[in-house]
Amino acid sequence: MIFDPLELNYSKLRAYLDCPFLYRYIYVERKFAPQSPYSSLGLSVHRAIGRFHAKPGDLNALLTHYDAAWLHQGYATPQESMEFYNKGAAVLEKWWAHFQANPAKVLYSERSFEFPFERWTIKGTIDRVDQLPGGDGRTIDVEVIDYKMGFEDRNEWDVAGSLQLAIYALGVSRALRHNVASIGYFILSSLQKASAPYDPATEEATLALINSTAEKMLALDMSRKGACARCAIRRLCPESEAKTD
Ligand code: SF4
Repeated sequence: MIFDPLELNYSKLRAYLDCPFLYRYIYVERKFAPQSPYSSLGLSVHRAIGRFHAKPGDLNALLTHYDAAWLHQGYATPQESMEFYNKGAAVLEKWWAHFQANPAKVLYSERSFEFPFERWTIKGTIDRVDQLPGGDGRTIDVEVIDYKMGFEDRNEWDVAGSLQLAIYALGVSRALRHNVASIGYFILSSLQKASAPYDPATEEATLALINSTAEKMLALDMSRKGACARCAIRRLCPESEAKTD
């Protein structure tokens, strides 16, 4: 894939905001951050749920999607891989029961979008978009949802301040032409949804942040560093200040 500095997505912006050297490593030098057990598990579970929404069925169908979507990379031993596989299967079983008890009108899953802004093209893929009751007959009210595994050491989810959800809301309103009424994270490990009404008045600030960040990315402004101790490439990065745990 050819690197296009004018093409933006949340992951690229997040990498630069976390650390310019991380962005350069992944997107300019085209090296790859190694998978960890948790990132690999997260990808497998996301893929399984995405395929399930596209082709719903019973619990067996979901677990069949999980088997097919399972990524082997990122685990040190077969035992560790099996341990995480079981952890993911348990999360999916509980999620499936919750989804049966709380049915939703899923309009899209794993839905890609793309829209132009200034000289940039902004792209993304949204885990799930639900149709909400209401709408004015011409537009559909929707909720934008991103799935999180929730194994991270945090219990508060800043929905209103999330750049990721703000970009996805822009994508839904500009590219898919739906009215975003709500944005939220669904935390798979705890089956909790953290959501908030979407305020279109925040779009100007989101776009300004995207523009200023993208200009620095294009100029390869490397004038700061992120938190090396928490960085996924701390053992690989030449600039790392935390090469050991
Ligand atoms: S190890 Fe430190 S300098 Fe290197 S990418 Fe990570 S945060 Fe940035």
